[in-house]
Amino acid sequence: MANIGFIGLGNMGGPMAANLLKAGHRVTGYDPVPAAVERFTAAGGIAAAKAADVAAGAEIIVSMLPAGRHVREVYLGPGGVIATAAPGALLIDSSTIDVETARAVAAEAEAKGLAMLDAPVSGGVGGATAGTLTFMVGGPDAAFARAEPILQAMGKTIVHAGGPGTGQAAKICNNMILGISMVAVSEAFVLAERLGLDAQKLFDISSKSSGQCWSLTSYCPVPGPVPTSPANRDYAAGFTAAMMLKDLKLAQDAAAGAGASTPLGATVAQLYGLYCGSGEGGRDFSGIIRFLRGT
Ligand code: NAD
Repeated sequence: MANIGFIGLGNMGGPMAANLLKAGHRVTGYDPVPAAVERFTAAGGIAAAKAADVAAGAEIIVSMLPAGRHVREVYLGPGGVIATAAPGALLIDSSTIDVETARAVAAEAEAKGLAMLDAPVSGGVGGATAGTLTFMVGGPDAAFARAEPILQAMGKTIVHAGGPGTGQAAKICNNMILGISMVAVSEAFVLAERLGLDAQKLFDISSKSSGQCWSLTSYCPVPGPVPTSPANRDYAAGFTAAMMLKDLKLAQDAAAGAGASTPLGATVAQLYGLYCGSGEGGRDFSGIIRFLRGT
């Protein structure tokens, strides 16, 4: 069993660290929020006073932080993880952040002789709790081979996407598909309503036709056809519109930097910006249908 350090014990990191403990690993964790640390120690984790203390004694360090600036703060600089990690430690950042930061931090780690992976996840808090996350992993082959058994304690599908930053690239590309397809499906249901076509009938037809997609058949934005979708519980999240907006903005920044044309991604990012600006950022991202309907 490994000696693991865990930095960022929030909605995702908390249950992920708990699954590492369940698998029998020794886990030392840090989070500035006392309630997050209390949940972690109640699950059997060892609390550290700062990120550097987590890094100093660990063979493997996992982080799950809000955004790129937190990752830079935690990893870089004099008291950061890279400066304090033991020689040979493996660094795994599972936060969803921009590709550029992921590559810059991995390069700093490599310069100090430390292997680093970007390993963002899909599956939300439910997947983090159940240990069924999908990990999209960018970084060297040998580091991936070392990380795989650790990631398996927190996830079900572990995919090596390629070199540094490709895990983040996979995450933002996937979520750009998701955001666009959710708006497409929502627009179709709004149009169907105006044309007098019953929502269930549209579902029955499109779920078996060329319009079929995950946003329709697993996460339908109208109540009824898919009983588990947030539409049936007043769009309680799930995956918040604010999180979707964050990922769409990351995709837009990446597209601008890479010179890729993503006009639908840009439009959908603006729609989610307006939806969140209307005070619905904490609502599930499928609630965008209400915005498109004008309600
Ligand atoms: P969260 O805000 O609940 O947790 C982040 C934690 O990081 C907080 O507890 C915060 O106190 C801690 N933190 C902030 N700065 C820190 C620092 N300097 N050192 C140590 N800890 C620090 O967010 P979350 O929902 O757990 O999301 C974490 C990451 O996972 C984000 O990048 C998010 O985009 C991604 N993600 C979230 C979901 C989801 O459904 N929640 C799904 C997929 C991916």
